[in-house]
Amino acid sequence: MDLKEEIRKLVELQELDCKISSLKIKKEKEKPQELETLKEKFEEEKKRVFSFEEKVKQLQVKRKEKELNLSSKEEGIRKAQAQLYQLKTNKEYQAKLTEIEALKADVSVLEEEIIKILDEIEEAEKELNKKREIVAQEEKRFKEREAQINQELKVLEIEIKGLKDKRKVLVEKVDKNILSIYERLLNTRGGIAIAPVVAENCGACHIKVTAQKINEIKMYKDIVFCENCVRILYIKEDIE
Ligand SMILES: [Zn+2]
Repeated sequence: MDLKEEIRKLVELQELDCKISSLKIKKEKEKPQELETLKEKFEEEKKRVFSFEEKVKQLQVKRKEKELNLSSKEEGIRKAQAQLYQLKTNKEYQAKLTEIEALKADVSVLEEEIIKILDEIEEAEKELNKKREIVAQEEKRFKEREAQINQELKVLEIEIKGLKDKRKVLVEKVDKNILSIYERLLNTRGGIAIAPVVAENCGACHIKVTAQKINEIKMYKDIVFCENCVRILYIKEDIE
């Protein structure tokens, strides 16, 4: 077995595994999260419109109540006025007039209140229409981004599949024992199983690699592991 050649294959495998893992993070975490955030924001806007619609509805109910109250007062005035001519004493007549005056005062207060509510409704409806327009725009933007992200997810899936196919072919060519060491490290060392020596340091954990170890690596007799993180070490220039 040519250990140097095996190391070369492992480095290639590590590159593939890094690419696969970063694409997987994009596909399974980043993109869905982006979409979820956009969706939450958009739902929030929609809720705000809904609460505004409720406000307008409440104002309409209030208006209706005032209007009913107004017509009943007006009816009261009509009745009282009709009764005026049937009253026999001056005292009764005066009392009825006072009653009519009071009703008229009520009517005028109600009319003012209704005008105020109508103004409020007009204002609220203007605001509501503005908000609806904003939400419609946001919805359009959201749908566009959603379609884009779904497209991006499809592309990512194809890319991952391509890399996995490549990996399958490469894995077949790696020595079984070496592969099992590599895969165990890959699973227990955060997806990095093999690291280059960079300026006499482990390229993964950055601890110093002794000259003795560097010599051992260059001999390609046994796999050399980092003393600290226990990843496989290699010399970049050697395998290029
Ligand atoms: Zn290390």
